[in-house]
Amino acid sequence: MTARYSIFSLVKNALSYHENWQQAWHSPEPKKQYDAVIVGGGGHGLVTAYYLAKEHGLRNIAVIERGWLGGGNTGRNTTIVRSNYMWDQSAALYEHSLKLWENMTRELNFNVMFSQRSVLNLAHTLNEVRITKRRINSNRLNGIDSEWLEPEDVKREVPIIDLRGGGRYPVMGGSIQRRAGTARHDAVAWGYARACSEMGVDIIQQCAVEGFDIEGGQVTGVRTSKGHIKTNKVGLVVAGHCGVLANMAGFKLPVNSRPLQALVSEPVKPIVHNVVMAGAVHAYISQSDKGELVIGAGTDAYNGYSQWGSNPVTEDTLAAICELYPLFKRMRMLRQWGGVVDTCPDASPIIGLSPVKGMYLNCGWGTGGFKATPGSGHIFADTVANNRPHPIAAPFALDRFRTGFLIDEHAAAGVAH
Ligand SMILES: Cc1cc2nc3c(=O)[nH]c(=O)nc-3n(C[C@H](O)[C@H](O)[C@H](O)COP(=O)(O)OP(=O)(O)OC[C@H]3O[C@@H](n4cnc5c(N)ncnc54)[C@H](O)[C@@H]3O)c2cc1C
Repeated sequence: MTARYSIFSLVKNALSYHENWQQAWHSPEPKKQYDAVIVGGGGHGLVTAYYLAKEHGLRNIAVIERGWLGGGNTGRNTTIVRSNYMWDQSAALYEHSLKLWENMTRELNFNVMFSQRSVLNLAHTLNEVRITKRRINSNRLNGIDSEWLEPEDVKREVPIIDLRGGGRYPVMGGSIQRRAGTARHDAVAWGYARACSEMGVDIIQQCAVEGFDIEGGQVTGVRTSKGHIKTNKVGLVVAGHCGVLANMAGFKLPVNSRPLQALVSEPVKPIVHNVVMAGAVHAYISQSDKGELVIGAGTDAYNGYSQWGSNPVTEDTLAAICELYPLFKRMRMLRQWGGVVDTCPDASPIIGLSPVKGMYLNCGWGTGGFKATPGSGHIFADTVANNRPHPIAAPFALDRFRTGFLIDEHAAAGVAH
């Protein structure tokens, strides 16, 4: 039984110089057989295992991670959480998730630092103004909080912004979702890992999946760097590497994998209170609790699997940030990095069944899946447990690329994350 975190456990452990904290999760060797194997120890994989154990009674489960927990995109993203997507299907998915975020810290007894500081999306062109207003109307019809801001309202929210955008990126208004915000990404992985471990889920790190056993179209096992595991249910939750794993299972996915980049500045005193996103120039900022500016940049223009940044992309982003916030011109950057994101042609995820029986897909989150972490895992667990798509997951089936029922958020939402 994992110890509950409380003010009393903090005081007790302070007295022993914090050397006796109980390990947050166990790291066993893999068993020979599991009822379900989740490949990928990012947020989505861990939440899937959590709900499989909690709501579907499966306890003989393993999460297999080739690196360390949250070492993929979960620990590399800029942590923006919002639900103001345009289409009804997306609104249902991301709002389901946002509601779970609102109770996550309490549910896990683990502070994930979810901060509903609001997310503001700037509009720089007449076209952006139009699509933003259309999205706000659509959000409201779906019961999602969403407001239009005139330029002077934007200035009130973000006093350091130059509404002229250096003459290049004039701010013509924007939308705001006040319930949106940020969270501490590592804490999300750690909190769910701890809760999973408490329910008996095996969390196996430093173990790469290298192949699958498939007999008569049904998955029967997983081959890993730590040996062979028998199972009839496999959830693939490997983000940018979904194409690689699908290839091992003998099918193809309509995704592009590209490095998406971010960087942080030196820490400064609190100055930006919301998340501010400029979709047209792909530059967005928030300020971390340590005072660093967390800056989101774009993706490389070509497919790749590197996890570091490239100068042309970050230079572009920083140039736009200097135009919008002249105050930051003298700021120094501390570090930059990349994460491999898997983007579908319609910028919506794939959640559901795969061409192999017993193998399920949760991928294609592209540049914006962190916000979906709890909701995605929740509906995916239901899909894996019952071998049919959860109603919220159904529109996101792989099959939509055959039927043509795409959920095109690229153009509709006009924002990437
Ligand atoms: C720079 C950047 C900024 C972003 N900003 C935002 C944002 O602000 N808001 C937002 O909503 N989203 C954002 N995203 C996207 C978001 O991070 C991802 O969509 C989300 O975290 C995906 O979670 P996941 O659990 O599916 O994947 P991951 O966290 O990547 O987990 C997948 C895991 O699978 C493991 N794996 C891969 N291959 C194998 C194998 N063969 N065997 C075993 N394990 C394997 C990997 O090591 C990895 O840990 C951003 C992404 C990046 C890179």
